[in-house]
Amino acid sequence: MPIYEYRCEDCAKLSSILVRSPKTAPAPKCQHCGGSHLKKVMSRVSRLKTQSDVVQEYGTPRPGEAYSDPRQIGSWVEKRFESYGMPVPEETRKMIDAAREGELPGPTGDL
Ligand SMILES: [Zn+2]
Repeated sequence: MPIYEYRCEDCAKLSSILVRSPKTAPAPKCQHCGGSHLKKVMSRVSRLKTQSDVVQEYGTPRPGEAYSDPRQIGSWVEKRFESYGMPVPEETRKMIDAAREGELPGPTGDL
């Protein structure tokens, strides 16, 4: 069953509503204020990740993506964030800069 996201025009909050049958479903109601002025929005749930998710993922590169060149560290991470449509957080940026200086945060993975 699809879950649709609606934005409430009264309180501007999002409601995720499970739609059992789009044709017979009653008008959706805001889960926050109970209003009925909802507009369907395209769900991006499958692409949403928190920054810590991304940081954790880049901390465990797959074989073949290991850090053989310090400059690859940054570009790999940057691409990772780019693919999620996020800016690289300042903290991560500092880690990249440190890594490029040869100060890897953690095991260097001498592969
Ligand atoms: Zn509302």
